[in-house]
Amino acid sequence: MNTEKLAERLFPEQYPPLASYEDKYPPRNLSKGAEVTRLAPSPTGFIHLGNLFVAIANERIAHQSGGILYLRIEDTDEKRKVDGAVEAVKNALRYFDIKFDEGAEIEGDNTYAPWYQRQRAEIYRAFVKELVKKGRAYPCFCTEDELSALREKQTAEKRITGYYGEFAACRALSEEEIYRRLDAGLPYVIRLKSSGDPEHKLKFHDEIKGEISVTENDQDVVILKSDGIPTYHFAHAIDDHFMRTTLVIRGEEWLSSLPIHIELFQTLGFERPRYGHNCSLMKQDGETRRKLSKRKDPELSLEFYRQEGYFARAVKVYMLTLLNSNFEEWYLKNPEKPLEEFRFSVNKMGKSGALFDLNKLNDISANELSRLSAEEMLAFLKDWADEYGTDGQRAYFKDEEYMLRVLNLCMGTGGKKRRKDFVTARQAMEFIRYFFEEESRRDEYRVDAQTKNAILKSFGEKYSYSDDAQTWFSKVKEVAASLGFAAETKDYKANPEAYKGSVADVAEVLRIALTGRANTPDLWTVMQILGEEVSRKRLQKATEERA
Ligand code: GLU
Repeated sequence: MNTEKLAERLFPEQYPPLASYEDKYPPRNLSKGAEVTRLAPSPTGFIHLGNLFVAIANERIAHQSGGILYLRIEDTDEKRKVDGAVEAVKNALRYFDIKFDEGAEIEGDNTYAPWYQRQRAEIYRAFVKELVKKGRAYPCFCTEDELSALREKQTAEKRITGYYGEFAACRALSEEEIYRRLDAGLPYVIRLKSSGDPEHKLKFHDEIKGEISVTENDQDVVILKSDGIPTYHFAHAIDDHFMRTTLVIRGEEWLSSLPIHIELFQTLGFERPRYGHNCSLMKQDGETRRKLSKRKDPELSLEFYRQEGYFARAVKVYMLTLLNSNFEEWYLKNPEKPLEEFRFSVNKMGKSGALFDLNKLNDISANELSRLSAEEMLAFLKDWADEYGTDGQRAYFKDEEYMLRVLNLCMGTGGKKRRKDFVTARQAMEFIRYFFEEESRRDEYRVDAQTKNAILKSFGEKYSYSDDAQTWFSKVKEVAASLGFAAETKDYKANPEAYKGSVADVAEVLRIALTGRANTPDLWTVMQILGEEVSRKRLQKATEERA
């Protein structure tokens, strides 16, 4: 077979000499030990926790070593492409403070561009042409129907499915037959002519899993599809080489493709980057553990964390806890330090499934939020509201002084006693809602309507905005005593039969009337913040309510 002639027929266009690509994309000039890592998502619009999991690892490894993290868009599959997906990836990762040095839509050095695989067709084709020339790749004319018939036959015979060895029909086509089919204009793909032997096991050093055994690939995988676009496998090998990637941390779902990747690098004569296959995120589901699923678990999507308003640092802390076995200890000792000060190590990454537990994340989040100053909390909530809040919620920030007072009271910002029950911005915004909007009542009064109205009326007559906390409370006690409630809780406890209830019950009526809730921070302060007019209006309105 004259493979030279075949290569010219299949790729009549003339490409620059292959060595010129080596000059065009020269080895990077980085100091020793600097790692070049990447994130290479497909633009499907769905960016998930698994992506963030490896993104954090790649980012830490690159930047800690004085290297580079770049963003490559693997858009070889046109069908899965979604508009705006690259923006979505970038926004999602920016929220978690993953900074790329180079890459698609990133301002940075473009020596190794283009960053979209579809824009790199020339270089892929140049190398495929070379493989055809060398007899390491060939055109395959098999139709979808023929391939599925093959699969069925193999399945029936209990053989491994795929295009390999004796089943690789087009591998054996005569020269005449190939040209006859080409002349007839039949569509074709280009396949790798594998030289692997599945009886051979390779020893492979995985940066995370350690020494593993890999079966040699013998599948004649497609490297160029009929539309002239390469497959992911082929494109990634070219790109990782010419973008001078040194280390690939990716999800362990790619482990099964590793034999193909090893053969591709060998065939192309490229030095391989080191690979580390990271364990999957698992979820406890009853008795069993399973992988987080797109369909069942909303928390798999990164969008979930932003919509709910998780504090980005908290999510990162949790991811790092799962990524590096010694992180938790470091974090306990250094709760306030920038996370970059932790020394990340690939060899401390888990070898098998990491259990993802939303409750743990919630605890971390509550802890992190309890360390924010009122101003930081305001900024955090405002950012969330700007993007995900209602118009009503955005209006909470019109008067920042007012907001700071609310936060100081509700979250104890500034004080010594911090509340630790705020997990997300959405939840915190709900919590402070009654300071900004009239709430519909959430909790029921525990007294009858008549008693409720009597309490509200009597308190309304006595109340003055200028009362200090003590005077205010003595007035509540007066109201209690005048309506048959014990003014002192201890009196009520000593003799419950003698009273309708205690001063606490009276205060609860006021609380529900003013805020719609039976539990709030200190009610005097709440009323101080709400102001006289609003407080009176709400007390009045509650009197008119029937229940
Ligand atoms: N494009 C692949 C993905 O969507 C990247 C796989 C790799 O990192 O090699 O996950």
